Amino acid sequence: MPEGDSVWQTARRLDALEGHVLTGSDLRIPSLATVDLAGRQVLGTVSRGKHLLTRLTDGITLHSHLRMEGRWDVQAAGTPWRRPAHEARAVLRTEKSEAIGFSILLDVVATEAEQSLVGHLGPDLLGADWDPVLAVRRLQRLPHLSIGEALVDQRNLAGIGNIYRAEACFLAGVDPNTRVDAVRNLPKLVAIAHQLLETHRDRHSRITTGDRRPGRRLWVYRRQGPCLRCGTPVRTGELGPEGQERTVWLCPSCQPDLPPASS
Ligand SMILES: [Zn+2]
Repeated sequence: MPEGDSVWQTARRLDALEGHVLTGSDLRIPSLATVDLAGRQVLGTVSRGKHLLTRLTDGITLHSHLRMEGRWDVQAAGTPWRRPAHEARAVLRTEKSEAIGFSILLDVVATEAEQSLVGHLGPDLLGADWDPVLAVRRLQRLPHLSIGEALVDQRNLAGIGNIYRAEACFLAGVDPNTRVDAVRNLPKLVAIAHQLLETHRDRHSRITTGDRRPGRRLWVYRRQGPCLRCGTPVRTGELGPEGQERTVWLCPSCQPDLPPASS
């Protein structure tokens, strides 16, 4: 899944369309094949968690989701696309530029109905209305769940994927398998996640260690070999509901698995 910072950066790319009138559109999804957005002005794009909402005049919103591999490119009209045409799901044209959405999920909704798409999301780590207290409260709703699963549940807080889950848990010294109610300092973990997203909002490479050398940029995500801090071998595990497990990485020394405080 894309992390919240990638989605935020995608929204900033789509800002290039803001204020411009669409001269043409091509939505390559059967249910939207007859929808023509030409003549409408682009009012702006906002990201909510992993969703992008591109608002147009006449109260219309183009909703897109990057799924696993999706991306939006915005480029000068007529320049070659960076991905094969068969992956394109949406093309938005203005007089001078072209936005192409590859491998995205797409929908057109009334702007006033956006809440039905994103209203279930927890506070957005990169949103203007970020609310750490609410995020902690949402995480605590399922105290027996592992913190690793709770962190990527976008209904708790929006914007964390597999990379920042691994890195935030490492930086907080928390094993991602730890039950939510056993995490000693949940506000601290949430603050670390927020800091990670904020730091990377405008960056193109992810560096959580402060070390720019290849292979040393992230503490544990996809790391094979010794922990960069203590030398203990980094280990992997599987987290998530059956059939949807994702790999997590952790250092068993820096991230001890603690029992619930009360037991
Ligand atoms: Zn370690």
